Amino acid sequence: MKKIVIFLGPPGSGKGTQAKIMAQKYSYGHISTGDLLRVLSNNENAPDDEKQALADMKAGKLVADWLIYRLAFREIEKNLAAGRGVILDGAIRNLEQAKKYQEFFKEKKLDKEVLTVEVALSDEEAFNRLTRRRLCKKCGEIIPWLPTTKDLSACQKCGGELVMRADDNEAVIKQRIVDQGNTTLKPILEYYGGLNILQKVDGEKQIAEVEKQITNILEK
Ligand code: AMP
Repeated sequence: MKKIVIFLGPPGSGKGTQAKIMAQKYSYGHISTGDLLRVLSNNENAPDDEKQALADMKAGKLVADWLIYRLAFREIEKNLAAGRGVILDGAIRNLEQAKKYQEFFKEKKLDKEVLTVEVALSDEEAFNRLTRRRLCKKCGEIIPWLPTTKDLSACQKCGGELVMRADDNEAVIKQRIVDQGNTTLKPILEYYGGLNILQKVDGEKQIAEVEKQITNILEK
């Protein structure tokens, strides 16, 4: 299995859910830049330049590339140093970033160890899912939207309160789909396709089915 696995897909495609499942299954480090940014936004002592960059996140826009590199590269290095591969979740959202990560992997002589997986979903379905999913206030677990989600009164992992994610309101979701939906993904997918390191799964399918498809790809 490749040491660097990159999940791509619009917000709500389930790439975070699948990244977590795969990281646990293969003892890989799970690196979600969204999670790293949410931790940072709860840190009152964060440097001013980082706090300013986070304002874009609240508006549903992409945050500055330099902050992403600062957070993600440090985590990748930590995992590699511990002998673990990594699963990147949402860590690449524009072509510039895709190229920069690839340079970073090349410097580490790991550019042949990269595999990207597109979890494909239409923007319309992404919108429907994002307006319905929930976040656990206590442990940060994202509960994907399933017909049963509306009946949950607490997080099934830790009992914490379930809330809407701060950036899961309709106006912000619309902005996120403009910034991070299929139009924005296209050049990134073309870039990885050109490197011959892109695989695709159908994100409309049920979680267990998508998991099976990804497992087959990773173990090939
Ligand atoms: P997520 O939890 O992956 O949906 O990310 C939440 C928010 O964090 C996004 O809407 C962006 O504002 C920001 N973000 C996460 N990853 C990136 C990235 N690679 N580049 C720019 N912004 C990002």
